Order: sequence, then C-alpha cells, then structure tokens
Amino acid sequence: MPLRVIVWNEFRHERESAAIAAVYPEGIHRAIADGLALVQPQGQQRQALEIGTATLDEPEHGLSEQRLADCDVLLWWGHRAHDAVSDAVVERVQRRVLAGMGLIVLHSGHYSKIFRRLMGTHCSLKWRVADERERLWVVERSHPIAAGLGEYFELPQEEMYGERFDIPRPDATVFISWFEGGEVFRSGCCWERGHGRVFYFRPGHESYPTYRDANVQLVLANAVQWAAPTVALGDAAPMRAPLERIGDKPQADAAAG
Ligand code: ZN
Repeated sequence: MPLRVIVWNEFRHERESAAIAAVYPEGIHRAIADGLALVQPQGQQRQALEIGTATLDEPEHGLSEQRLADCDVLLWWGHRAHDAVSDAVVERVQRRVLAGMGLIVLHSGHYSKIFRRLMGTHCSLKWRVADERERLWVVERSHPIAAGLGEYFELPQEEMYGERFDIPRPDATVFISWFEGGEVFRSGCCWERGHGRVFYFRPGHESYPTYRDANVQLVLANAVQWAAPTVALGDAAPMRAPLERIGDKPQADAAAG
C-alpha cells in the first residue's frame, strides 16, 4: 500500500502577486508535490507515495471527511489566510492527527489554526525578510528526518525566523538554523499528539525558491516517511467490565465507574 499524501496550500500569494507567481507559477503545493515525487527518501523506511494536493478555495478546503480519512500524511503551507480556514476542517484535521495521521507544518504554518491548536501555545517568533543566508545545522544526525544530510546545509536567501519560538518543548529538535543577521531558530521540531506525529519545518518563504532546493526536498521526503501512521485509532472512552473477577463483589458493581 502506498503512503497517501496530501500537500495542502493556501494558494493565495501565487495568484495575487506577480512576483510570487514568478517563483512558483504552478503554486507552492505543486512544487512541494513535485519534489516529493522526485526525491528518494534516505534511511530504512521507504514506502511509495501517492501524492495529491488540496487548496483553501476548494470546497471544504479540499479536505472533506472522506479525503482526510484516506490521507496518511498531510503537509500544510499557509500564511495570509489562516483565519479563512474553517474551524470544522481544523477540528477534522486534529481528530485525524490524534488518530494517527502524520502532519508536516511548513514555514508560516507556525501561525495556522491547526498548528496552534495542536501545540497549545502562541507559536510566535521573530521575523525579517532581508534576503539573508540561512544555515541549517543538523543537530540530530541519527534522526530519520536527517538521513542522507551532512553536518549542515545552507539556503542562499530566506526569511529570518528567530527565537524565542513559543512552542512546547519538542520531543526531538532535528535542525537549528543560524541566520546571517545573527539570530538562531529551532527549525525542525518533532512532537507526538495522540497517535499522530507532527513535524514543523521552518524554511519556505513564498518569495524564494526554497522548495526546489535538493536538501529541503530530501528533508520533506524523509519527514513524510517518518510521519507515516503506525495505527489508526479513533477516540473512545468505553466503560469496561473487568477482565478478572474483582474480590468477591458481583461483576456489575465492580465494573461501575
Ligand atoms: Zn514567510
């Protein structure tokens, strides 16, 4: 069974700005999807991918109940229209993550409703768009998301994000970015929420061709494999009869509560 992946994109910048459309004429979601189709993940887990895309202005943002039920890993790029994402869809995505679906939140998705809901914090940070160099240090070389990477890699121009990044302490911090202007940032962070895995990956400002970078494409290819569900378990809180007889009490009493 291939891993079923959906790349979700707000898809507003590319349609509203000629400068951004020049960088991503086909939309950021298509560039990300093309990178996933092109790059072989490194490391042990290598499931084939079935890649689809969804965008904000599609009915239900392209994330109907059925579409999400059939999704193993969802990637999320949003920026200027976070508030336009319906709470019902956010709720739906959260339920799927808790049940086991993987979620990869990209760049300005740090302020998306779904990421802030799953983190439970503001997810705020410092920022600056000044065409500066970003060096991503791989601080967990043994982590599956870092497979095939060197000690660091660089992006010639990116937006700066700086600490403090208001997130709960990650289960793993795979990358720390340094920027030409001096700031640092936890740029690749992993969490578990319920049965699902969540990865936040920092680079990806819309005015730079970041998603065509080979190292970025490798990180995303690895991250999709890492985030693949291991179970699919919906929520339940059943009253359970005991498996063993409890003392001398009748079964019905013992099972109460
Ligand atoms: Zn940005």
